Amino acid sequence: MDISVVIPLYNEAESLPELHSWITRVMEQKGFSYEIIFCNDGSTDGSLSVIKRLAGDDDHVHCVSFSRNYGKSPALNEGFRRAKGDVVITMDADLQDSPDEIPELYRMIMKDGFDLVSGWKKKRYDPLSKTIPTKLFNATARKVSGIKNLHDFNCGLKAYRNEVVKHIEVYGDMHRYIPYLAKNAGYKKIGEKEVHHQARKYGSTKFGLDRFVNGYLDLATLWFQSKFGIKPMHIFGLLGSLMFLVGFIATVTVLTLKIISMCSDSYYFYVTKSVYFYLSLAAMIMGLQFFLTGFIGELITRNSPERNNYLIGEDW
Ligand code: UDP
Ligand code: MG
Repeated sequence: MDISVVIPLYNEAESLPELHSWITRVMEQKGFSYEIIFCNDGSTDGSLSVIKRLAGDDDHVHCVSFSRNYGKSPALNEGFRRAKGDVVITMDADLQDSPDEIPELYRMIMKDGFDLVSGWKKKRYDPLSKTIPTKLFNATARKVSGIKNLHDFNCGLKAYRNEVVKHIEVYGDMHRYIPYLAKNAGYKKIGEKEVHHQARKYGSTKFGLDRFVNGYLDLATLWFQSKFGIKPMHIFGLLGSLMFLVGFIATVTVLTLKIISMCSDSYYFYVTKSVYFYLSLAAMIMGLQFFLTGFIGELITRNSPERNNYLIGEDW
């Protein structure tokens, strides 16, 4: 099979028939063999019955339906597990992404050899309150992930080589960073294609401004995981040692001052009035905590079923 189109959706009943016929038109024009996987994320607006109606007339349509709303990432993840096409295309269900981009995305994966091609909504039809923070968000994501050529990490329209989606796990709200997940999984050939974007025709956006706060927190998590995920002691041990060193120097300073004061008649040193006393206490306790966190981290990674999963390029 050439293409699997994976569509996460939450309350998009009005858009679905139009989206389905648009995708069908493009696929038939180009003669692709394909499947459309609707990932219904617990919609409450009758989206599921619309999908069932579409599937009744078209064998290309498949559906995985959550019994409650889990989020876009879990929906994508389930779609990825089921996708059989050589190229997997993801797109939003709200008609903001154009299926006309599919043939070129397919070509870039199959002919140009990209592992992943991400859409770039260069001209966006979204409110300013969204486009400006998005620019900042993308600049940070570029810097942290080291994927310098991407302008639009969170574009819903993306294409993947099938193998890529089978090796990444999209959970929580990590759909914003799929290129980073792919890079961490060992897929480095990541490209970009400018895509048309349209204003939302039906319904309303499912993400509020909290997307930016959560987005930054997720980025910090991913960065940490990619740097220290399998060796947490390397960071916590270092921080713990630094803290101990600070604590040790402070303790020696307090003791020295105390001994000097004991030998002197004119000067009395109160240990508990010295800043070094409190510094030594705080630094020792924090140092110990860093170390213990490192040990617990090591125990957790040791038990992770993923701990020895490597992406092997060649083996002979
Ligand atoms: N979506 C989803 N589950 C959710 C929220 C959103 O499957 O909990 C889908 C939604 O139906 C749409 C896509 O994710 O197909 C992108 O959502 P939306 O258009 O609201 O995001 P925006 O375009 O505003 O970034
Ligand atoms: Mg949208």
